[in-house]
Amino acid sequence: MKLPDYRRFDPLNGLRQRMGAPLGRFTAAKSPTLLTAAELEQLSTTGIEVELRQIRLLADGTLAYKDCRVAVHQRDLLRAGGEAPQPTRLPAFHLADCDVLQDARLRHPDRSYIASTREDALFVLRLCTRGEDGCERRSERLSVCQSCLGRLCWQEFERSLSQMEARELVAAFSLTTFFKAYPKALARQLWSDAKRAGADL
Ligand SMILES: [Zn+2]
Repeated sequence: MKLPDYRRFDPLNGLRQRMGAPLGRFTAAKSPTLLTAAELEQLSTTGIEVELRQIRLLADGTLAYKDCRVAVHQRDLLRAGGEAPQPTRLPAFHLADCDVLQDARLRHPDRSYIASTREDALFVLRLCTRGEDGCERRSERLSVCQSCLGRLCWQEFERSLSQMEARELVAAFSLTTFFKAYPKALARQLWSDAKRAGADL
């Protein structure tokens, strides 16, 4: 649909002149706290490389990059002699400011992480071999961090669970369910909270 040129629309120009309002030039402002469409796309595919200082800690204990709630995982994995990584050596992905992330923030402030909104738990890692240049990028299915589940009391996850019970909850964990409980879009959540508050008045 082609819109009319309102600069040549007499009723509007007359009103504008009576108001003494000159024609302005509109420039879309870029905010450092808002994601662009390209960044949103990247979050949902390969993820975005970040340092932990760029990750916001939300009041509910979860993590955000700019205006989006995210999962975060360590970018690099060191492997011996180019072997395929053992599942037990793969890093977990984090959803909360758990004690593992708090420790990493103190000990390795410059370590690279990937922020992501993928729901299939397939995350892009860089597999690096000691003494060799270059790293292989590869998608691996990662598990959720148990400390994060404990921090969020996710589905009654408690530190007192047996190892087998904890592993069962980790295996059953769904990022789709998580992002339904903790929506990705933070502004949208605030808006729905405001609407709920209005409905209660
Ligand atoms: Zn964690």
